[in-house]
Amino acid sequence: MAVVNSMEGIVEVALKELLKEDPECCTCENCMNDMMCLALNALPPKYVSSERGALFSKINNAMAQQRSIDVRVACINALEFVKSHPHHNIS
Ligand SMILES: [Zn+2]
Repeated sequence: MAVVNSMEGIVEVALKELLKEDPECCTCENCMNDMMCLALNALPPKYVSSERGALFSKINNAMAQQRSIDVRVACINALEFVKSHPHHNIS
């Protein structure tokens, strides 16, 4: 049985929402991964014990959690950090 950190899905949705409002930020795979790591490391993990559970938890909590202050702050911090410290040169 898979154990998944459902926070990954929540952060991904919240980040994409923020990136829509901030088109200046690079969204290549490197930068997306960096932002995901930074935000996830700043937030408590939320493990669920099956894919069904993950999906359920994702649907159930995504709306509430992606808008929670903690998730939003972590995503904003990650976005700002990657924007000012990209792992590559932006042309
Ligand atoms: Zn990039």
